[in-house]
Amino acid sequence: MRIAHLSSECVPFAKTGGLGDVVGALPKALAARGHECAVWMPFHLPAAEWYRKHNLWPEQALAPFSVDVLGQRYQVGVLRGELPAGAVPVYFIAHDPFFHRGPIHAPNEQGFDDGLWRFTLFVRAALEAMRRLDDKPQVLHAHDWHAALAAMLCAWSGWRDRWFDDVAAMLTIHNLAYQGVYGGDSFPALGLPPESFGPGGVELHGDVNLLKGGIAAADLITTVSPTYAREITTPDGGAGLDAVLRGRGDRLLGILNGIDIEEWNPASDHHLPAHYTVDDLPGKALSRRALCAASGLDPDDPGLVVGAIGRLTGQKGFDVLLGAVPTLCSSGVRIVMLGSGDPALEAEMRHLDASLPGRFKAFLGYDESRAHLIEAGADAFIMPSRFEPCGLNQMYSLAYGTPPIVRRTGGLADTVIGFDGANPATANGFSFDDLTVPALVGAVRFAQQVFGTPVWARLVRNAMKADFSWGRSAIHYEDAYRRARELRGLAW
Ligand code: ADP
Repeated sequence: MRIAHLSSECVPFAKTGGLGDVVGALPKALAARGHECAVWMPFHLPAAEWYRKHNLWPEQALAPFSVDVLGQRYQVGVLRGELPAGAVPVYFIAHDPFFHRGPIHAPNEQGFDDGLWRFTLFVRAALEAMRRLDDKPQVLHAHDWHAALAAMLCAWSGWRDRWFDDVAAMLTIHNLAYQGVYGGDSFPALGLPPESFGPGGVELHGDVNLLKGGIAAADLITTVSPTYAREITTPDGGAGLDAVLRGRGDRLLGILNGIDIEEWNPASDHHLPAHYTVDDLPGKALSRRALCAASGLDPDDPGLVVGAIGRLTGQKGFDVLLGAVPTLCSSGVRIVMLGSGDPALEAEMRHLDASLPGRFKAFLGYDESRAHLIEAGADAFIMPSRFEPCGLNQMYSLAYGTPPIVRRTGGLADTVIGFDGANPATANGFSFDDLTVPALVGAVRFAQQVFGTPVWARLVRNAMKADFSWGRSAIHYEDAYRRARELRGLAW
């Protein structure tokens, strides 16, 4: 099948979060299964910098052409590169005034959020370039609000544009918190038929809501875990779009992300002092010693060491974890935490680090290498997320034989099978429901009791044997593309 991915981010060219990881990995996994994939993205400044750093430059794919947005003509270039180690083509839409910015989602020089215009130009130019290259996909796969216009154009301009007749559109929501909301007066810039500014279209509360438009228009909508797919249809998890998502419930499904097993594999991880596998675990004990030594913890103390990594935002529930630290540390648990973000949480981490030496270690900042050592060297890993569309860290810790202790939400609920005292054959971690200090303390204390018993080795084994490769996810996406085409009445 021919699939065109449209996204603002794609690793290694531009990334602010999980979206970039998915778009960098999924097309390669699909290509390995015989599909013809291409990635379309803006030529952001970090992409240009990536090419410069590697002494390379993408080739010109087409002569520059102009795209009309609300009577203004924008000149765009189309460059062609490739995903490293994948032979998947990447087409870059270049227009420096819009895309030559350091932080890729920053406002313009006047501080104005021109996202609607930037991504309208990106999507319209990408579709025009596909026509000019005579490279029509069977599925347009739009990622997040930045590319949602592709699904809308496909669904709502078909009656006057036969190009879309045999194309299906799929939308993937990576995080419902980001929706692309702009004033209703910007609607004409999208180039959609007038009737699409309404309740069944791109309008919400008088505004343009690009994600909502994509949800209304796409033949199929996916998100990044089955549980998150259910949660976003509820008022609690729907970020204001739950009713719209319920209305499209028969077209909504969750597909778990994979992890990059080249990067995250304890058998070959160059960040670790020793490698290990499920059948040869001494390297994990050596990683534990190295982590303890680097964190000021006694490596000979056999007590449970718990790791935590992530962005310090409300989403991750670290406020509750930090509230539980004094109680946990007083009962022999030791905690190593790595993160950056909210200044109040950073200050609390510094304070606990100073007051609980040898028991609580805070590393502030973004440190890829230390993240690998924590995943390998900790005995258990904690993620008390308020919401978690998919989550990568719990999958890394499973792969590294570090049973996760998670709040049962989103992708955490779909990947961690909590030990309940009776399921050692299947359990791979620990789960709790309430985001409160007592519930979190209870879950960690339970893990502490199990640690050191023969059941722990079963959990480690179950964790390390789970398959979170992209190859597994690609099979589900393949089914989804087929379904999207069927729903549009097309064969594949
Ligand atoms: P999210 O995408 O919501 O931030 P995920 O768990 O899906 O959460 O992915 C987070 C990724 O970012 C993981 O690869 C994690 O290891 C990494 N990460 C987050 N914070 C840090 C940090 N301070 N240092 C190193 N890696 C980090």
